[in-house]
Amino acid sequence: MTVRVRYGPSPTGEPHVGNIRTALFNWLLARHHGGQFIVRIEDTDQARKVEGAEKLIFEAMRWLGIDWDEGPDVGGPYGPYRQSERLDLYRERVQQLLDADAAYACVCSAERLDAMRKEQQARKQPPGYDGRCRALSKEELEAAVAANDGRHVVRFKMPLEGETVVPDVVRGDVRFKNRLLDDHVILKADGFPTYHLASVVDDNAMQISHVLRGEEWISSAPRHVREYEAFGWDPPVFVHLPIILGPDKGKLSKRHGATSLREYAAEGYLPEALTNFLALLGWSKDDHTVLMSQDELIGAFDVDGIGVTSAMFDVERLREMNGEYIRGLGGDAFLERAGPFLEAALPAEVERPLDPSALRPIAREIQERVKLLSEFPDYTDFFFLRDPLSYANEELMGKGYRDNPAAALAAIEATMQRLKDLELWTNDEVESALRALAEELGVKPGVLFTPIRVALTGKRVAPPLFETVTALGRELTLERLNQAAEHLARPDD
Ligand code: GLU
Repeated sequence: MTVRVRYGPSPTGEPHVGNIRTALFNWLLARHHGGQFIVRIEDTDQARKVEGAEKLIFEAMRWLGIDWDEGPDVGGPYGPYRQSERLDLYRERVQQLLDADAAYACVCSAERLDAMRKEQQARKQPPGYDGRCRALSKEELEAAVAANDGRHVVRFKMPLEGETVVPDVVRGDVRFKNRLLDDHVILKADGFPTYHLASVVDDNAMQISHVLRGEEWISSAPRHVREYEAFGWDPPVFVHLPIILGPDKGKLSKRHGATSLREYAAEGYLPEALTNFLALLGWSKDDHTVLMSQDELIGAFDVDGIGVTSAMFDVERLREMNGEYIRGLGGDAFLERAGPFLEAALPAEVERPLDPSALRPIAREIQERVKLLSEFPDYTDFFFLRDPLSYANEELMGKGYRDNPAAALAAIEATMQRLKDLELWTNDEVESALRALAEELGVKPGVLFTPIRVALTGKRVAPPLFETVTALGRELTLERLNQAAEHLARPDD
């Protein structure tokens, strides 16, 4: 069987991670089997449609490295791929169901349905349409529709008794009691189909072989199974993916960290790290493999690795994984990818374009430390900021020289002298000179290094000191130490 899978996002907002996991799983399955991956925009709910959302969905997928063989922008043999452009087909299919007496027109007003719901609630009955129009004869219904100025919806006739079985690859046969499944609407009064109809009609028309989607859709599946039956079509293979929870076991939401893909990109997550992380939300190769490239994922991915247990979205784990991916980058690739974050963080007066090659001597050290590319400017902005850097005398003195600006000043002056005389400007030379100086001054190295670090970087936490000094160069180092000395000589404003 050719594997043909689809991702059917509704353009109702920014794609979030749960949604994109569905796209990824479908894509991995298609690529693993050499099949086709189709993007279908499910925009039948006109009220919830958000302008620009479709573009954001495409961008998010492209950023993750997901490509598609058929879709609204690339076309394909089963188009159009926006449901709002397929209305004629749905109407035809609805007529087919009406003709077969598998569906009926319903004229129940919103007020009536509302009252019905309240009554059901009060009587503690299961909610759902009570079948009033289903009970009417063909003639009675026609008259009712005419009396309603033609306005009506179409409902699908679900069986009243017995069970509907949804064969799910992950869960086995899932059984639903038909008496709890009401007659759902398939065509709305505005002429648009509902999700329940459009999805089935399109999956059939587009020859979809496997439906992979979030677990929250499994309660819809018995309705779909009955529709396939009424049409006389073979249903696709159903694969419902385990739900994604936050670490507190609640449904994943904003409070568990960013959820839109754009926010992850802006924070400096690498798409390859996010892909790896998302692939493991509900799927695994075995019980120990964690780090996998896109190609490795494609090679290993199949439906049998998808589990039933809910997947935990732990942003801390994602951060760690991102850090590993960052450390795995080549030095130049790291600078190239981190560079834009620095550009964005530096004030406008800094001259552009920046030349990140100045950072080469220290890049590795930074690479070891950052978990997100957005942390890169913290470690590097001082290479590009114009002097003077801003800090307080208290920061310069640190704990070691607290309340003792004279000693801090002496230490900085001695450092300047030592570095001025240094023959070779290398990490090793800088290190031995500064360690020797601390010893001569009778202080622990950390005591001496704090004022130097703050003087050179403007911050207390920065990349390793010796590498920083080497990368800054002698001239700038001495200039900044001199500024620090002047700073210390006058009290803070
Ligand atoms: N349009 C649905 C969604 O937004 C797709 C559900 C399905 O895959 O059947 O998730």
